[in-house]
Amino acid sequence: MGIIKQKDSLVEKRIQKIKEDRDELQRYVDELTMFLPLAFCTVNPLHLILGVNQEFLNLTGYSEMEVIGNEIDSLFVDKELIKKFKETIPNKKERVTEEAKLLVKDGGEILVSVSALARRDASGNFLGYFITVSDISEVKEFQKKLEERVEEKTKELEKKTNEIAESRLALLNILEETDEAWKRTEAERDKTMAVISNFTDGLIIFNKDNIIDIVNFKAEKFLERSANDLIGKKVEDLKNDKHLDPLTKILFETREFNDKQKREDDPESKKEIELKKGQTLEVSVVPIITAGEKRETLVVLHDISREKMVEAMKSEFVSIAAHQLRTPLAAIKWTMKMLLEGDLGELNEGQMELVNKVYISNERMVNLINDLLNVSRIEEGKYLYKPELVHIEDIVEPLLESYRIEMERRGIDFKIKKPKEKTPTVAVDNEKITLVIQNFLDNAMKYTPKGGSVEISIDYDKDINRVRVSVKDSGVGIPKNQQLRMFSKFFRAANVIRMETEGSGLGLFISKNIVEAHGGKIWFESEEGKGSTFYFNLPVKNKKEFADFLKKL
Ligand code: ADP
Repeated sequence: MGIIKQKDSLVEKRIQKIKEDRDELQRYVDELTMFLPLAFCTVNPLHLILGVNQEFLNLTGYSEMEVIGNEIDSLFVDKELIKKFKETIPNKKERVTEEAKLLVKDGGEILVSVSALARRDASGNFLGYFITVSDISEVKEFQKKLEERVEEKTKELEKKTNEIAESRLALLNILEETDEAWKRTEAERDKTMAVISNFTDGLIIFNKDNIIDIVNFKAEKFLERSANDLIGKKVEDLKNDKHLDPLTKILFETREFNDKQKREDDPESKKEIELKKGQTLEVSVVPIITAGEKRETLVVLHDISREKMVEAMKSEFVSIAAHQLRTPLAAIKWTMKMLLEGDLGELNEGQMELVNKVYISNERMVNLINDLLNVSRIEEGKYLYKPELVHIEDIVEPLLESYRIEMERRGIDFKIKKPKEKTPTVAVDNEKITLVIQNFLDNAMKYTPKGGSVEISIDYDKDINRVRVSVKDSGVGIPKNQQLRMFSKFFRAANVIRMETEGSGLGLFISKNIVEAHGGKIWFESEEGKGSTFYFNLPVKNKKEFADFLKKL
């Protein structure tokens, strides 16, 4: 009996211990659920709320008293959904989750995710269930925003894609246009090449490095060299080709083909050459400027053989006619002179005046004929020079007296300016240089009205070792637009033609030829209405240089 009693108290003790353990566990679970940061409640099999944790109260705003014992449905908006939920839970082993709207204390609704898990005893009987509720309104809001952003971005992307498509189209258009432009340029180039090939003048084009790029058919003919022989070469490379000597010389002298700055006596860009007998070519060197920069150089070979021949015939005709005219004019001159000097009997005043007029006109005619003869001699290359070594003052001074008298008569102030010491000697044909000085003085006198001034100056420019003579006047000047044509045959400026002064327009042409044949330079400065200054200079020569110079003649 004692043993049974002992056993009973042992069992009781054990049961007591198990109870204590269970209570302990229950407290632990309660504490844990209270502590969990997730809204949580327990529901019995009749769907009545048995308990809630602190987080649940926080979320809904209710107190425990307000919810415990209520039906679970009272917490949610959508009763249908809850009904289905309630039916499903007892039969499910795993967790059931739905989205639903939770009704909270202040009358508001919160979008929540509701999860329920059935509770069962050891034999699997349904004891009710746990419910957890989590606020997903923010997540939803975030999701909504995210969707909106995605939509927005998609639209942007679509726009961008469209833009890209458009720019692609634009690019295609540009490409098409470029292609068109390219085709047009090609056509233009072909046209230019056709023009160049068939041009009646010879054309040679040097690229910007002065290498021959293009040689047309006519140039090949003129030079008697094939384009293939010339293309890719520089002027230097043609030096050894004797046949092309006259051309290479000109190209070398041209600024385009040497690096030198423009020299004082820079040759003009148009020159004549004779590569073979009877064929004269006029060579022009033209820089091709693109966008303000020299790109290429064009050399034009123009055949002027026919003009040369016609000119020679004309010169010959003028020369013959002038010679023929000289004899009768000389006869008239001497007869008039005899009449004026009374060798053929005394003349009365009226007769004297008339005969004097005829004498003066005849003198003009003789001068003109002399000019014409000088021009044709120059052109035929028969103008002979007899050089002597002289001081230029010795040529200028003897001329001045007669001019002084004539200038005074015309009311023009006339002066001479020269250095104290004589200038160094020059080698000149006295008679020809006299003609030049006379021409300068005659013009200054003719084209300067009464009250004006004329000054002749002599000086020596040590830097270039040349003696210079200049005649400055305060006369009518030369219009700017006519200045380029000065020194050409028969040219007279419009302002002097209006003045009706006599003149042939040959004086300066002859002067230029004379000065240049002496190795000198002739030029002028002038402003219409203010006056002009005509200059020429001559290279200084000492005795030895003069002797060498004579040997070369
Ligand atoms: P011309 O016989 O006409 O004087 P030139 O050959 O000596 O012939 O001169 C040619 C032209 O140059 C003149 O007709 C004139 O227009 C111009 N000219 C020459 N010298 C002067 C000057 N000192 N003043 C103004 N014009 C001048």
